[in-house]
Amino acid sequence: MRDLLLDINIIVDLCVERAGSANSRIALAVAKERDVRLWTYAGSVQTMEYVVAAELHERARGNDRAISASAARRQARVLLGKLTTGMQWLAALASECDVFAEDDPEDAQLIRSLERMPGTSRLLTRDKRLLAQHPEKTTTPESLIQQALKNPAEPAIDFIDLKAQQASIRPQLERNIHRVLHHGQYIMGPEIQELEERLADYVEVEHCITCASGTDSLLIAMLALGIGPGDEIITTPFTFIATGEMIALLGARPVFVDIDPPTYNIDPTKIEAAITPNTRAIIPVSLYGQPADFDEINAIAQRHGLPVIEDGAQSFGATYKARKSGALSAIGSTSFFPSKPLGGYGDGGALFTNDDALAKAMREIRVHGQDRRYNHPRIGINGRLDTLQAAVILAKLDRFDDEIAARQQVAARYNQWLAGSEILTTPYKAPDRTHVYAQYSIEVDNREALQAVLKAQNIPTAVHYPLGLHRQPAFNALGQAEARFPHTNSAAQRIMSLPMHPYLTARQQQQVVDALVNPNMANCAP
Ligand SMILES: *Cc1c(COP(=O)(O)O)cnc(C)c1O
Repeated sequence: MRDLLLDINIIVDLCVERAGSANSRIALAVAKERDVRLWTYAGSVQTMEYVVAAELHERARGNDRAISASAARRQARVLLGKLTTGMQWLAALASECDVFAEDDPEDAQLIRSLERMPGTSRLLTRDKRLLAQHPEKTTTPESLIQQALKNPAEPAIDFIDLKAQQASIRPQLERNIHRVLHHGQYIMGPEIQELEERLADYVEVEHCITCASGTDSLLIAMLALGIGPGDEIITTPFTFIATGEMIALLGARPVFVDIDPPTYNIDPTKIEAAITPNTRAIIPVSLYGQPADFDEINAIAQRHGLPVIEDGAQSFGATYKARKSGALSAIGSTSFFPSKPLGGYGDGGALFTNDDALAKAMREIRVHGQDRRYNHPRIGINGRLDTLQAAVILAKLDRFDDEIAARQQVAARYNQWLAGSEILTTPYKAPDRTHVYAQYSIEVDNREALQAVLKAQNIPTAVHYPLGLHRQPAFNALGQAEARFPHTNSAAQRIMSLPMHPYLTARQQQQVVDALVNPNMANCAP
């Protein structure tokens, strides 16, 4: 169970110390220890105040220290304010409101609201009727405590925890989404312009053009540069497929250049040798969240009159010599895929540039090459970001810098606690850059065995990426000699990403580190 909704009788227990209320308090402590999220139903605010105030009023009278009804309500509000701090408000939705045919509309609302929560969610209650009628949806403080005694606490570790983030921004998120539902401008609504302005300010560039995905952003950038069949684009083979894929989709040829081992980014010293008369652009990837060496790359590009597109899908928020990823070359691109540092709740991406003509071209390509309604001077795509996604990303943007700081702190703890281990290498960060740790990736000798050990302890890991793009079947026809990619091949064999997100606790990290530093192969038994 990860979610617990509190019935009003439990809330009264917690606000007012009455006989038998101690178990509610213990149950709550147990739930918190297990990282169970505690919810109170937004539709019950008035009842909470009323019932807690009535209880306070009663009790004061019983103690011969009568208080006025309004004083009791004031006290109730103070207690409820304290109690609900740090809890999640479960919004009351319209589908939960048509309950007037029920004997107890409020109970019916609570039970209905659980239907949109994960199946393991429970209503914590003492209401005998609810417990009898909905045994699979309810639990009591006593049975929660008993369950806990049977199963020792085992806080789960997520590879990327989007739920913790959501909990911290829920009010803003719900407000933003509902605003879109109400204004109804689902395509290019006001949130798109607001997001583009805020992202351009953030990256410190003139233009931001949001689009439907990071993949589309690469496609749009290349279309704007007029890249097509016969052209060659220099890029890294140690990246997600999208980088090479969009080059090939345009009929151009990805020319892979091996990586610089410590940063895993394209090795600038090897770029020049790959340039031919057909070369049209260079696409470095700022892998794992650390920018590539853009001064070196831009200098080479300038000598050859080539534009540089940064694939910053993993590095949004990172800096290179105090300039933001996205602002490091002619065009910067990023992705808002949910697991990226600035992720939405679906697909999304953005482009950045200081070049007015490129910005205009990319804006047009995003909407079918259209400059005004039903006039199409060029060929484009349907590559717009949804207004709803923009609303989600706006809600996340306020916290983004804090989240980056938290990621860096998580990385610093891993670095410190894993330092000196003989079985792994921690990531290198160049001194002139900041790293946003989209992935915290270590190198190990026997990756599969270590992954199995961690998995047996419920610690998820991932491999970014098991194959260089030159080895992907889709690129076989390119015939790029294996021998040119020793560093990519080695990294692809040795790299392993550990759980990384801004809400990872030191305790969870300690679990990961313990499992890594003392790999107990016995745990690996099937
Ligand atoms: C995620 C990613 C992409 C693609 O982004 P989408 O939004 O998923 O289309 C491109 N390049 C790199 C390096 C990525 O990590």
